[in-house]
Amino acid sequence: MKIQFYGAARTVTGSCHILRIKDKLILLDLGLYQGNGAIEKENEYFPFNANEVDYVILSHAHIDHSGRIPLLYKRGFKGQVICTDATKDLCSVMLPDSGYIQEAEAEWKNRKRIRQGLKGIDPLYTSNDAVESLTFFKGYPYDNIIKLFDGLEIIFRDAGHLLGSAMVELIAKEDNKEIRLVYSGDIGNKGLPILKDPSKIKYADYVIMETTYGDRFHTKMEEDMKSLASIIKDTVKRGGNVIIPSFAVGRTQEVLYMLNKYVENNELKNCTVYVDSPLATEATSIFKRHEKYYDEEAKKYLERGDNPLEFKGLVFTKSQQESSELNKIQNGAVIISASGMCEAGRIKHHLKHNLWRKECSIVFVGYQAEGTLGRTIVDGSKKVRVFGEEIAVNAKIYNLHGLSGHADRNGLYEWITGFVKKPKRVFLVHGDAESMFSFKELIENENIDSEIIAPNQVIEIGEGDEIKLSKKDKLLEIIKNMDVDHMSKDEIIKIVEREI
Ligand SMILES: [Zn+2]
Ligand SMILES: [Zn+2]
Repeated sequence: MKIQFYGAARTVTGSCHILRIKDKLILLDLGLYQGNGAIEKENEYFPFNANEVDYVILSHAHIDHSGRIPLLYKRGFKGQVICTDATKDLCSVMLPDSGYIQEAEAEWKNRKRIRQGLKGIDPLYTSNDAVESLTFFKGYPYDNIIKLFDGLEIIFRDAGHLLGSAMVELIAKEDNKEIRLVYSGDIGNKGLPILKDPSKIKYADYVIMETTYGDRFHTKMEEDMKSLASIIKDTVKRGGNVIIPSFAVGRTQEVLYMLNKYVENNELKNCTVYVDSPLATEATSIFKRHEKYYDEEAKKYLERGDNPLEFKGLVFTKSQQESSELNKIQNGAVIISASGMCEAGRIKHHLKHNLWRKECSIVFVGYQAEGTLGRTIVDGSKKVRVFGEEIAVNAKIYNLHGLSGHADRNGLYEWITGFVKKPKRVFLVHGDAESMFSFKELIENENIDSEIIAPNQVIEIGEGDEIKLSKKDKLLEIIKNMDVDHMSKDEIIKIVEREI
């Protein structure tokens, strides 16, 4: 087996690792490079022919992991995209949205280019390319053995990072040898609302592991949420609105889940919560369709007949008109809107109308990349430009750090030391240099051999590599990892039969 590390090597975006097993070409994720340093050329370049790719194994729907699949389709991909069913559903709204952003960006650039007498450029892909690429997606549940071809089986395990997010166990068989490779995808933060905690995996020869927060610790999420409730109470008392710039998919639903608790405990009164983002609204209904993946606490709400993503005083705006109406509200509105870093979308209108009012509050609930409007506000600018207009920052600004979808240093450590047998080698990806070096040092104290991957590094694994599990061990391992409480007898029998 050959692994070529291509994207998210010494950086966090553009996730993509290329596997060659037998004569098959397999991609682990195919994400978009994002943020300040994202150069168009990087996104346009593939070190393979799109029509030669047999499979894309997709860990989760975030655009930095899935965002170039429509481009792959546009260039002639004829294979399959293998992911969980919830990931497939989330991609069905997130990828067309990404296509729309690509189109808008190209249009904006072309206006400039035409004024300079230059030729117009095409968008990386269109919303329509994204919609058409969805026909190649195949969704599966967690914990099932999925045979892709003679020589490769995979199992998705709940990564607890986003609805549908998965770690991937790959079991490759070549010349009677079995190699177990685990791709961590993005590892979730323990205790996240709605989602289960990240799965522990028992056996691996090799691990490709994310290290986003390999050098940092998160504050407690519960504390952050309590602060959110008191920020809202204070702001309502002062006679203002609360604006929450939020990522539409994942973070918005987590915030709603927590607000639901406070509203139902009668702790939050006299306010209306608006979700003002079409993508967030669609994503929320996908979350509602996949209740089977909720954690115990969220399931308890459902058993009581109470949907934790619905509460009195929660409004999902639909039209642009309804969104504009929110600008007239002076007091008692909690507006959750995208984009999370305030770079685009309806959030900019809400900032324009509330940022200058000292009685209002702006609450950041996610990471703010350098160079974004969100970051400028968090860093304490007294004036910012919104739609070309200078706006004074008089509102109270809060930055809640605890709400992270990613495991922190402790969570990553717990996960990698959770294997029954130490993996032979761990390839560190999806992190900046500082975080990776610090985490490498930490796990080397545990005698775990690791390597910080360089972009385009190729590693050949296989010679003499094998973990042979007896049939009984294998079966026990599968059963232990199955969510038997939520599976039918037939489903369990089917899996067991395949193994014997
Ligand atoms: Zn992610
Ligand atoms: Zn990621």
